Amino acid sequence: MSSSRPTNLSPQGRHGPWPDDDWQFETRAIHRGQSFKNETGAVIAPIYATSTFAYGNPAGFDYTRSGNPTFSNFEDVIAGLEGARFCTSFASGVSAITAIVSTLQAGDRILAEENLYGCTFRLFERVFRKFGVEAVYCDLSKADEISQIARHEPALVWIESPTNPLLKIIDIRACANAAHACGAALVVDNTFASSYLQKPLALGADLSLLSATKYTAGHSDCLAGAICTDSEIWQDKLVFAQKALGLQPAPFDVWLATRGAKTQALRMERHSANAQALAEMFLFEWKCPWVRYPFLADDPGFNLAKSQMKMGSGIVSVDFNLSIDQTIEFLRRSKLFTLAESLGGIESLVCHPATMTHASVPREQRLAVGIRDSLVRFSVGVEHIEDLKRDLEQAWNHS
Ligand SMILES: *Cc1c(COP(=O)(O)O)cnc(C)c1O
Repeated sequence: MSSSRPTNLSPQGRHGPWPDDDWQFETRAIHRGQSFKNETGAVIAPIYATSTFAYGNPAGFDYTRSGNPTFSNFEDVIAGLEGARFCTSFASGVSAITAIVSTLQAGDRILAEENLYGCTFRLFERVFRKFGVEAVYCDLSKADEISQIARHEPALVWIESPTNPLLKIIDIRACANAAHACGAALVVDNTFASSYLQKPLALGADLSLLSATKYTAGHSDCLAGAICTDSEIWQDKLVFAQKALGLQPAPFDVWLATRGAKTQALRMERHSANAQALAEMFLFEWKCPWVRYPFLADDPGFNLAKSQMKMGSGIVSVDFNLSIDQTIEFLRRSKLFTLAESLGGIESLVCHPATMTHASVPREQRLAVGIRDSLVRFSVGVEHIEDLKRDLEQAWNHS
Protein backbone atom coordinates (compact mmCIF):
# COMPACT_ATOMS: atom_id res chain seq x y z
CA MET A 1 0.00 0.00 0.00
CA SER A 2 1.45 3.34 -0.99
CA SER A 3 2.14 5.80 1.80
CA SER A 4 0.81 8.74 -0.19
CA ARG A 5 -2.95 8.36 0.15
CA PRO A 6 -4.97 11.53 -0.19
CA THR A 7 -6.94 11.89 3.06
CA ASN A 8 -6.40 11.10 6.69
CA LEU A 9 -9.36 8.76 6.65
CA SER A 10 -7.47 6.44 4.32
CA PRO A 11 -5.44 3.35 5.21
CA GLN A 12 -2.35 4.38 7.22
CA GLY A 13 -3.97 7.83 7.14
CA ARG A 14 -1.55 10.23 5.54
CA HIS A 15 -0.56 13.15 7.57
CA GLY A 16 0.89 15.97 5.74
CA PRO A 17 0.80 18.73 5.01
CA TRP A 18 -1.27 19.54 8.06
CA PRO A 19 -3.00 22.84 8.68
CA ASP A 20 -2.38 22.39 12.41
CA ASP A 21 1.40 22.39 12.46
CA ASP A 22 1.38 25.37 14.82
CA TRP A 23 -0.64 23.58 17.46
CA GLN A 24 0.98 22.51 20.70
CA PHE A 25 0.98 18.92 21.96
CA GLU A 26 -2.14 19.28 24.12
CA THR A 27 -4.18 20.71 21.24
CA ARG A 28 -2.99 18.19 18.67
CA ALA A 29 -3.85 15.36 21.06
CA ILE A 30 -7.45 16.51 21.13
CA HIS A 31 -8.01 17.96 17.67
CA ARG A 32 -6.09 15.81 15.21
CA GLY A 33 -7.60 12.86 13.42
CA GLN A 34 -11.03 14.47 13.14
CA SER A 35 -11.76 13.91 9.46
CA PHE A 36 -15.03 12.08 10.33
CA LYS A 37 -16.42 15.27 11.85
CA ASN A 38 -17.54 17.15 8.78
CA GLU A 39 -19.64 14.26 7.55
CA THR A 40 -21.35 13.31 10.80
CA GLY A 41 -20.89 16.02 13.41
CA ALA A 42 -19.69 13.44 15.90
CA VAL A 43 -17.33 15.01 18.42
CA ILE A 44 -15.55 11.74 19.14
CA ALA A 45 -14.53 9.33 16.38
CA PRO A 46 -16.64 6.20 16.01
CA ILE A 47 -15.15 2.71 16.28
CA TYR A 48 -15.12 1.07 12.85
CA ALA A 49 -15.84 -2.49 13.90
CA THR A 50 -15.60 -4.01 10.46
CA SER A 51 -13.32 -6.66 9.03
CA THR A 52 -13.79 -5.70 5.40
CA PHE A 53 -14.73 -2.79 3.11
CA ALA A 54 -16.66 -2.52 -0.15
CA TYR A 55 -14.32 -2.85 -3.12
CA GLY A 56 -13.43 0.46 -4.72
CA ASN A 57 -14.47 2.73 -1.82
CA PRO A 58 -13.10 6.26 -2.18
CA ALA A 59 -10.91 6.09 0.95
CA GLY A 60 -9.14 2.99 -0.38
CA PHE A 61 -9.71 0.56 2.48
CA ASP A 62 -9.93 -3.13 1.67
CA TYR A 63 -9.56 -5.34 4.76
CA THR A 64 -8.89 -4.41 8.37
CA ARG A 65 -5.61 -6.31 8.55
CA SER A 66 -4.19 -3.66 6.20
CA GLY A 67 -6.00 -0.61 7.53
CA ASN A 68 -9.17 0.65 9.17
CA PRO A 69 -10.42 4.23 9.72
CA THR A 70 -10.05 3.78 13.48
CA PHE A 71 -6.36 2.91 12.97
CA SER A 72 -5.92 5.94 10.70
CA ASN A 73 -7.36 8.15 13.38
CA PHE A 74 -4.97 6.81 16.00
CA GLU A 75 -2.02 7.04 13.59
CA ASP A 76 -2.81 10.69 12.82
CA VAL A 77 -2.93 11.56 16.50
CA ILE A 78 0.28 9.72 17.40
CA ALA A 79 2.19 11.11 14.41
CA GLY A 80 1.14 14.56 15.60
CA LEU A 81 2.31 13.88 19.15
CA GLU A 82 5.70 12.53 18.04
CA GLY A 83 6.16 15.27 15.45
CA ALA A 84 6.41 12.59 12.75
CA ARG A 85 5.33 12.42 9.12
CA PHE A 86 4.07 8.85 9.45
CA CYS A 87 2.77 6.43 12.04
CA THR A 88 1.73 2.78 11.76
CA SER A 89 -0.39 1.10 14.41
CA PHE A 90 0.18 -2.38 15.80
CA ALA A 91 -1.52 -4.79 18.18
CA SER A 92 1.07 -4.22 20.91
CA GLY A 93 4.58 -2.95 21.52
CA VAL A 94 5.86 -6.45 20.85
CA SER A 95 4.05 -6.51 17.48
CA ALA A 96 5.74 -3.22 16.61
CA ILE A 97 9.16 -4.68 17.51
CA THR A 98 8.36 -7.75 15.40
CA ALA A 99 7.47 -5.51 12.45
CA ILE A 100 10.82 -3.72 12.56
CA VAL A 101 12.93 -6.85 12.93
CA SER A 102 10.97 -8.59 10.15
CA THR A 103 12.42 -6.07 7.69
CA LEU A 104 15.92 -7.54 8.26
CA GLN A 105 17.58 -10.40 6.39
CA ALA A 106 19.49 -13.44 7.65
CA GLY A 107 23.02 -12.27 8.41
CA ASP A 108 21.94 -8.82 9.55
CA ARG A 109 22.99 -7.68 13.00
CA ILE A 110 21.21 -5.59 15.63
CA LEU A 111 23.39 -3.70 18.07
CA ALA A 112 21.28 -3.19 21.19
CA GLU A 113 21.81 -1.36 24.45
CA GLU A 114 22.36 -4.13 27.00
CA ASN A 115 19.62 -2.98 29.40
CA LEU A 116 16.81 -3.98 27.09
CA TYR A 117 13.13 -4.58 27.80
CA GLY A 118 12.86 -8.30 28.67
CA CYS A 119 10.42 -9.23 25.89
CA THR A 120 12.53 -7.44 23.26
CA PHE A 121 15.51 -9.50 24.41
CA ARG A 122 13.41 -12.66 24.28
CA LEU A 123 12.25 -11.89 20.71
CA PHE A 124 15.81 -11.23 19.55
CA GLU A 125 17.24 -14.33 21.21
CA ARG A 126 14.49 -16.95 21.05
CA VAL A 127 12.77 -16.02 17.79
CA PHE A 128 14.84 -13.94 15.38
CA ARG A 129 18.19 -15.59 16.08
CA LYS A 130 16.72 -18.79 14.58
CA PHE A 131 16.23 -16.87 11.34
CA GLY A 132 19.83 -15.71 11.23
CA VAL A 133 19.38 -12.22 12.69
CA GLU A 134 21.97 -11.73 15.39
CA ALA A 135 21.76 -9.30 18.30
CA VAL A 136 24.84 -8.04 20.17
CA TYR A 137 24.65 -5.98 23.36
CA CYS A 138 26.72 -3.01 24.55
CA ASP A 139 26.54 -0.43 27.31
CA LEU A 140 25.56 2.56 25.19
CA SER A 141 25.43 4.86 28.22
CA LYS A 142 29.24 5.00 27.66
CA ALA A 143 30.50 7.39 24.99
CA ASP A 144 33.38 5.09 24.01
CA GLU A 145 30.96 2.22 23.34
CA ILE A 146 28.91 4.52 21.11
CA SER A 147 32.08 5.38 19.21
CA GLN A 148 32.63 1.64 18.59
CA ILE A 149 29.20 1.08 17.01
CA ALA A 150 30.55 0.88 13.44
CA ARG A 151 32.90 -1.98 14.38
CA HIS A 152 29.89 -4.23 14.90
CA GLU A 153 28.60 -3.47 11.37
CA PRO A 154 24.98 -3.31 12.54
CA ALA A 155 21.93 -2.96 10.32
CA LEU A 156 20.00 -1.52 13.27
CA VAL A 157 20.99 0.16 16.50
CA TRP A 158 18.34 -0.39 19.17
CA ILE A 159 18.00 1.66 22.32
CA GLU A 160 15.52 2.59 25.01
CA SER A 161 15.92 5.80 26.99
CA PRO A 162 15.33 5.79 29.89
CA THR A 163 16.12 2.08 30.04
CA ASN A 164 14.03 -0.47 31.86
CA PRO A 165 14.43 -0.92 34.81
CA LEU A 166 17.78 0.81 35.46
CA LEU A 167 16.67 4.19 34.05
CA LYS A 168 19.97 4.78 32.29
CA ILE A 169 19.79 7.73 29.92
CA ILE A 170 21.20 7.03 26.46
CA ASP A 171 22.41 9.85 24.23
CA ILE A 172 19.96 9.64 21.31
CA ARG A 173 21.77 12.25 19.16
CA ALA A 174 25.14 10.53 19.59
CA CYS A 175 23.66 7.10 18.81
CA ALA A 176 21.92 8.49 15.71
CA ASN A 177 25.18 10.01 14.44
CA ALA A 178 27.14 6.83 15.10
CA ALA A 179 24.48 4.63 13.50
CA HIS A 180 24.16 6.81 10.41
CA ALA A 181 27.95 7.00 9.99
CA CYS A 182 27.95 3.24 9.33
CA GLY A 183 24.72 3.08 7.35
CA ALA A 184 22.58 1.71 10.19
CA ALA A 185 19.16 2.94 11.30
CA LEU A 186 18.49 3.96 14.89
CA VAL A 187 15.40 2.58 16.63
CA VAL A 188 14.37 4.28 19.87
CA ASP A 189 11.85 2.53 22.06
CA ASN A 190 10.17 5.66 23.45
CA THR A 191 7.74 3.80 25.72
CA PHE A 192 9.36 4.76 29.04
CA ALA A 193 9.68 8.42 28.17
CA SER A 194 6.36 8.89 26.28
CA SER A 195 5.66 11.14 23.30
CA TYR A 196 5.02 14.09 25.61
CA LEU A 197 8.42 13.98 27.26
CA GLN A 198 10.71 12.96 24.41
CA LYS A 199 10.76 13.24 20.59
CA PRO A 200 13.25 10.69 19.26
CA LEU A 201 12.85 11.68 15.59
CA ALA A 202 13.78 15.28 16.34
CA LEU A 203 16.91 13.93 18.07
CA GLY A 204 17.91 11.98 14.95
CA ALA A 205 16.25 8.56 15.36
CA ASP A 206 14.89 6.86 12.25
CA LEU A 207 12.12 5.03 14.09
CA SER A 208 10.36 5.84 17.35
CA LEU A 209 8.53 2.86 18.79
CA LEU A 210 5.80 2.97 21.41
CA SER A 211 4.11 0.35 23.46
CA ALA A 212 0.95 2.48 23.38
CA THR A 213 -0.33 0.12 26.08
CA LYS A 214 1.61 2.27 28.55
CA TYR A 215 1.68 6.09 28.70
CA THR A 216 -0.14 6.61 25.38
CA ALA A 217 -3.33 4.78 26.34
CA GLY A 218 -2.55 5.43 29.98
CA HIS A 219 -5.41 3.55 31.65
CA SER A 220 -4.23 -0.08 31.65
CA ASP A 221 -7.27 -1.10 29.63
CA CYS A 222 -5.90 -2.10 26.22
CA LEU A 223 -2.83 -3.22 24.29
CA ALA A 224 -1.53 -1.27 21.30
CA GLY A 225 1.72 -0.34 19.59
CA ALA A 226 2.89 2.36 17.20
CA ILE A 227 5.95 3.22 15.15
CA CYS A 228 6.62 6.75 13.94
CA THR A 229 9.04 7.72 11.20
CA ASP A 230 9.76 10.54 8.77
CA SER A 231 11.01 8.09 6.14
CA GLU A 232 8.67 7.00 3.39
CA ILE A 233 10.83 3.93 2.76
CA TRP A 234 10.50 2.78 6.38
CA GLN A 235 6.81 3.63 6.38
CA ASP A 236 6.17 1.38 3.37
CA LYS A 237 8.05 -1.48 5.05
CA LEU A 238 6.08 -1.08 8.28
CA VAL A 239 2.72 -0.91 6.52
CA PHE A 240 3.70 -4.08 4.66
CA ALA A 241 4.70 -5.79 7.94
CA GLN A 242 1.42 -4.78 9.57
CA LYS A 243 -0.65 -6.58 6.96
CA ALA A 244 1.71 -9.37 5.88
CA LEU A 245 2.45 -10.56 9.43
CA GLY A 246 -1.03 -9.87 10.80
CA LEU A 247 0.27 -7.41 13.41
CA GLN A 248 -2.68 -5.01 13.24
CA PRO A 249 -4.46 -3.85 16.41
CA ALA A 250 -8.13 -4.32 17.24
CA PRO A 251 -10.26 -1.26 16.39
CA PHE A 252 -11.61 -1.06 19.94
CA ASP A 253 -8.14 -1.12 21.48
CA VAL A 254 -6.75 1.66 19.32
CA TRP A 255 -9.91 3.66 19.91
CA LEU A 256 -9.19 3.41 23.66
CA ALA A 257 -5.56 4.34 23.07
CA THR A 258 -6.64 7.36 21.02
CA ARG A 259 -8.94 8.45 23.80
CA GLY A 260 -6.17 8.00 26.34
CA ALA A 261 -3.75 10.05 24.23
CA LYS A 262 -6.01 13.09 24.52
CA THR A 263 -5.03 13.49 28.19
CA GLN A 264 -1.41 12.42 27.91
CA ALA A 265 0.03 15.85 28.70
CA LEU A 266 -2.06 16.23 31.85
CA ARG A 267 -1.26 12.74 33.03
CA MET A 268 2.47 13.01 32.40
CA GLU A 269 2.70 16.23 34.39
CA ARG A 270 1.18 14.49 37.42
CA HIS A 271 3.11 11.21 36.93
CA SER A 272 6.27 13.26 36.82
CA ALA A 273 5.55 15.38 39.91
CA ASN A 274 4.54 12.31 41.94
CA ALA A 275 7.56 10.27 40.83
CA GLN A 276 9.95 13.12 41.56
CA ALA A 277 8.49 13.46 45.07
CA LEU A 278 8.76 9.73 45.80
CA ALA A 279 12.31 9.54 44.41
CA GLU A 280 13.30 12.39 46.74
CA MET A 281 11.58 10.66 49.66
CA PHE A 282 13.45 7.38 49.01
CA LEU A 283 16.77 9.17 48.66
CA PHE A 284 16.67 11.89 51.31
CA GLU A 285 14.21 10.62 53.93
CA TRP A 286 14.47 6.85 53.68
CA LYS A 287 18.15 7.02 52.69
CA CYS A 288 17.83 4.04 50.36
CA PRO A 289 21.25 2.87 49.12
CA TRP A 290 20.39 3.18 45.42
CA VAL A 291 17.67 5.34 43.85
CA ARG A 292 17.36 6.08 40.16
CA TYR A 293 15.25 8.88 38.74
CA PRO A 294 16.84 10.82 35.86
CA PHE A 295 15.61 14.16 37.16
CA LEU A 296 17.28 13.86 40.57
CA ALA A 297 20.10 16.39 40.45
CA ASP A 298 22.81 13.83 41.26
CA ASP A 299 21.49 11.09 38.97
CA PRO A 300 24.17 9.96 36.47
CA GLY A 301 21.77 10.73 33.62
CA PHE A 302 20.61 14.14 34.83
CA ASN A 303 22.34 16.45 32.34
CA LEU A 304 21.62 14.27 29.35
CA ALA A 305 18.03 13.76 30.49
CA LYS A 306 17.56 17.53 30.67
CA SER A 307 18.89 17.87 27.13
CA GLN A 308 16.53 15.31 25.57
CA MET A 309 13.48 15.03 27.85
CA LYS A 310 10.98 17.60 29.00
CA MET A 311 10.85 16.14 32.54
CA GLY A 312 10.99 12.75 34.22
CA SER A 313 8.22 10.18 33.65
CA GLY A 314 6.50 8.18 36.38
CA ILE A 315 9.12 5.46 36.76
CA VAL A 316 11.40 5.28 39.79
CA SER A 317 13.75 2.37 40.49
CA VAL A 318 15.03 1.66 43.99
CA ASP A 319 17.19 -0.89 45.72
CA PHE A 320 15.92 -1.32 49.30
CA ASN A 321 18.70 -3.76 50.09
CA LEU A 322 16.23 -6.50 51.06
CA SER A 323 16.20 -10.20 50.14
CA ILE A 324 13.80 -11.35 47.40
CA ASP A 325 11.31 -12.61 50.02
CA GLN A 326 11.51 -9.42 52.10
CA THR A 327 11.11 -7.30 48.98
CA ILE A 328 7.98 -9.14 47.88
CA GLU A 329 6.64 -9.02 51.48
CA PHE A 330 7.13 -5.24 51.63
CA LEU A 331 5.52 -4.68 48.24
CA ARG A 332 2.55 -6.89 49.07
CA ARG A 333 1.76 -4.74 52.10
CA SER A 334 1.18 -1.68 49.94
CA LYS A 335 -2.52 -1.02 49.36
CA LEU A 336 -2.10 1.47 46.52
CA PHE A 337 0.80 -0.02 44.52
CA THR A 338 -0.45 -3.20 42.90
CA LEU A 339 2.31 -5.74 42.39
CA ALA A 340 2.01 -6.18 38.63
CA GLU A 341 3.88 -6.00 35.35
CA SER A 342 3.29 -3.06 33.03
CA LEU A 343 3.53 0.65 33.71
CA GLY A 344 2.27 3.97 32.54
CA GLY A 345 -1.32 3.71 33.74
CA ILE A 346 -3.11 6.17 36.00
CA GLU A 347 -2.90 3.72 38.91
CA SER A 348 0.34 3.06 40.73
CA LEU A 349 2.00 -0.28 40.12
CA VAL A 350 5.16 -1.83 41.42
CA CYS A 351 7.25 -4.51 39.80
CA HIS A 352 10.06 -6.79 40.90
CA PRO A 353 12.06 -7.11 37.67
CA ALA A 354 14.10 -10.18 38.64
CA THR A 355 11.00 -12.33 39.11
CA MET A 356 8.65 -10.51 36.73
CA THR A 357 9.56 -8.41 33.66
CA HIS A 358 13.13 -9.68 33.39
CA ALA A 359 12.54 -13.27 34.47
CA SER A 360 13.11 -14.26 30.82
CA VAL A 361 16.67 -12.86 30.96
CA PRO A 362 19.10 -15.44 32.46
CA ARG A 363 20.19 -14.51 36.02
CA GLU A 364 23.91 -14.13 35.19
CA GLN A 365 23.00 -11.77 32.37
CA ARG A 366 20.62 -9.81 34.62
CA LEU A 367 23.31 -9.39 37.25
CA ALA A 368 25.91 -8.50 34.62
CA VAL A 369 23.82 -5.53 33.49
CA GLY A 370 22.94 -4.48 37.05
CA ILE A 371 19.45 -5.92 37.59
CA ARG A 372 19.95 -7.16 41.13
CA ASP A 373 17.47 -9.38 42.93
CA SER A 374 16.67 -6.54 45.34
CA LEU A 375 15.77 -3.99 42.63
CA VAL A 376 12.22 -2.62 42.62
CA ARG A 377 10.59 -0.55 39.88
CA PHE A 378 7.70 1.76 40.70
CA SER A 379 5.29 3.04 38.08
CA VAL A 380 3.93 5.99 39.99
CA GLY A 381 0.32 6.80 39.14
CA VAL A 382 -1.63 10.02 39.32
CA GLU A 383 -3.13 9.54 42.79
CA HIS A 384 -2.62 12.15 45.52
CA ILE A 385 1.03 12.18 46.52
CA GLU A 386 0.32 12.21 50.27
CA ASP A 387 -1.74 9.02 49.98
CA LEU A 388 1.08 7.34 48.04
CA LYS A 389 3.68 8.36 50.62
CA ARG A 390 1.58 7.26 53.57
CA ASP A 391 0.84 3.93 51.92
CA LEU A 392 4.52 3.14 51.34
CA GLU A 393 5.41 4.26 54.86
CA GLN A 394 2.89 1.91 56.45
CA ALA A 395 4.13 -0.95 54.25
CA TRP A 396 7.73 -0.22 55.21
CA ASN A 397 7.08 0.21 58.95
CA HIS A 398 5.51 -3.24 59.08
CA SER A 399 8.43 -4.84 57.25
C1 LIG B 1 5.68 -2.94 27.57
C2 LIG B 1 6.86 -2.60 26.73
C3 LIG B 1 7.01 -3.14 25.44
C4 LIG B 1 6.04 -4.15 24.87
O1 LIG B 1 4.78 -3.62 24.71
P1 LIG B 1 3.42 -4.49 24.77
O2 LIG B 1 2.40 -3.49 24.41
O3 LIG B 1 3.31 -5.04 26.15
O4 LIG B 1 3.58 -5.59 23.76
C5 LIG B 1 8.10 -2.75 24.69
N1 LIG B 1 9.02 -1.90 25.19
C6 LIG B 1 8.93 -1.39 26.43
C7 LIG B 1 9.98 -0.47 26.91
C8 LIG B 1 7.84 -1.72 27.23
O5 LIG B 1 7.75 -1.20 28.47
